[in-house]
Amino acid sequence: MTSLAKTHIMILKKVGKEEDMKFSKMNYQRIQLDELRNEATQIMNQFEAAESGAEQFEIHKKYYALKDEVATTVIIARIRHDIDTADEFYNQENDYYDEILPEIKNLETTYLKKVFESPYRNELEEKIGKVAFTNMDLKFHSIDEKILPLMKQENALTSEYANLIAGAKIDWKGEELNLSLLRKYMTDSDRAVRAMACKKYEQFFQENGEELDRIYDELVKNRTEQARILGFENYIELGYNRFNRNCYRKEEVEAFRKQIKEYFVPFATKLHIKRQERLGLNELSFIDNDVYFKDGNPAPAGTPEEIMENGRKMYHELSKETKEFIDFMMENELFDVLGRKTKKAGGYMEFLPQYNAPFVFANFNGTSGDIDVITHEMGHALQGYISGKDPIREHADITMETAEIHSMSMEFFTEPWMSLFFDEQTEDYIQSHFESCAVFIPYGCMVDEFQHRVYEKPEMTPAQRHGVWAELEKAYRPHLSYKGYPYFEKGGFWQKQLHIYELPFYYIDYCIAQICAFQYKIWMDENYKEAWESYLHLCELSASDYFVNLVEEAGLENPFKEGIVKKMVGKLEEKLN
Ligand SMILES: [Zn+2]
Repeated sequence: MTSLAKTHIMILKKVGKEEDMKFSKMNYQRIQLDELRNEATQIMNQFEAAESGAEQFEIHKKYYALKDEVATTVIIARIRHDIDTADEFYNQENDYYDEILPEIKNLETTYLKKVFESPYRNELEEKIGKVAFTNMDLKFHSIDEKILPLMKQENALTSEYANLIAGAKIDWKGEELNLSLLRKYMTDSDRAVRAMACKKYEQFFQENGEELDRIYDELVKNRTEQARILGFENYIELGYNRFNRNCYRKEEVEAFRKQIKEYFVPFATKLHIKRQERLGLNELSFIDNDVYFKDGNPAPAGTPEEIMENGRKMYHELSKETKEFIDFMMENELFDVLGRKTKKAGGYMEFLPQYNAPFVFANFNGTSGDIDVITHEMGHALQGYISGKDPIREHADITMETAEIHSMSMEFFTEPWMSLFFDEQTEDYIQSHFESCAVFIPYGCMVDEFQHRVYEKPEMTPAQRHGVWAELEKAYRPHLSYKGYPYFEKGGFWQKQLHIYELPFYYIDYCIAQICAFQYKIWMDENYKEAWESYLHLCELSASDYFVNLVEEAGLENPFKEGIVKKMVGKLEEKLN
C-alpha cells in the first residue's frame, strides 16, 4: 500500500502538469466517432496480425489507453453537465454521448470477440485473468442486434417511469413538493405530520397505479421477449448475465434468501420491537418505518464546509492511505456536494481513469444523508483510487455486490469519528445506522424475490403481482402494518422502488454486501487494525478474481455458505445487549 505515491508520478506524466489534475482545469475535447472508429479498426487489425500472445497483449494495452481516454472524456462531460444542467455546451455534449454510446459499445464488443476467440487465448488469460473471459462470454450472451429495437423500447419505458415519478406534484400546505422532498415529512418526529405526508404519498401511487401497472407490464413482457429471442426460457438468466453474475446464479441467491428469511427476519423483527418501545407506540405502521427516535432522527451539525473539513480530519486520522487519498481529492477539486438550483439531483461516485481520480457528486440537504456522502461514497472513491494503479484494466470491472462492500464497510470503519458530525447525538446516530443497515436486508431480499416471481411467470396480471408483493410483505416484514393505507395494504408499495422498473435483479447486491459489511463490523470491534488491513486488501484486489474467492482471500466468509447468516445473527445479537 506504500506505492500509491508512485502511481501519481506516473499519472502526472500521462496527463501533463500538476495543475491539470484539478477538475476545473481538466482538458475536454469531444470524442469524434469517425476518428474513434479508425483507431479501433487499427487496433483490431494489429491484434489479428499479432503472432504471439505477448504481442497481442501489447496491442491490448492500446485498447486500454483508448478505453481510458473515451471513459474519461465522457465522464468529464457528464459531470460538468450534472453540475450545471443549464450549461448549453455540456448539455449538447451529454446528448451527443447518449446518441453515440451504443455505437461505441458495439465497437468494443467487436474487439472483445477477437480477444475471446484469439488463438493465444491461454496466454492472454494468464495476463488479464479468467474473470475477464467469463465476463466477455456473459456479455456476448446478453446482447444481439436482433433485440436492439426491443432494448430501445425498454429504455423508453423506463424513462416513462422516471418521468412519471419525477413529475409528481404534491400539494403540501400550499407548497408544491415532489416525492423526494415529501420524504422529509414522512419521517417527521410528529406522528400526525407523518401520517398526513404518507397519505399524500399513497394517494400519488393510487392515482397513478393503473399507469404504473401498464408500464411495468410492458417492461416485463418486453424483457421476456428479449430473453426468448436470445434463447432463454425467461428474463432471469438474461438479467443475471447483464449484471455479470459470474460466480453465483439463481440457486445460490435463492438459498441466501432462505437463510435470511429463517434467521435474519426474526432478528430484524426484534430490532423493530425495540424501536417500537422506544417510540412508545402500540404497533408499527409503515409511517413509522424510517423513524428511530421520538424526538426525530439524528442530523449532522455544522455547515457543509465544516462537514467537509471534518471529513478531511477524519481521514487524516484513520490511516496513512486515507490521508493521502483525502488530500488528493480536496486539492484537485474532486468533490461537488453543495446543492444548487441548476444542479442535477442525487449523488454518485465516478472514476476518471486517465487521471486515476475519483469524483464525488452529491447534494447536501442537512440530513444524515450528507454524512453518507463522506463515508459511503468515499468508500467507493477510495477503492477506485487504490485499484486505479492496477495496470490490468479488466480488474476495474467490479460487480455491484463487491463495490457495495467497499462503501458499506466504510460506514462502519468511520464510526469512531462520528462525534465530529453528530455531537451529543453520536450514540443515537450509531444505533440508528446499525438498525437501518440490519432491517434493510429483509426488505432488499423481498424486492429480489418479487422480481424472480414476476419474471418466472410473466403472464401474471397486475393484480396478481400486487398479491405476490402483499404475500411477501408478511414473510419478510411481519412487524409492519399498512392499516389505513388500502392501496399499499393490497400490495402496491413496490411501485415506488426504482430498481424494480429500471434495473431488474439489481438489489440483492446490497444485501450480499451488507452481510459482508457486518462481518467487518464484527471484526473491527474485535481487532480494528486487522479488519482495516483486510479491507484495504479487498479494495486492492478489486475484480482480479471472482467475488466468492475475493471475500475469502480477504478473510471474510462467503455469504452464500450454509449457516453463515445464522452465525452472524448470533454475533450481532450480542451487540444489542
Ligand atoms: Zn454505493
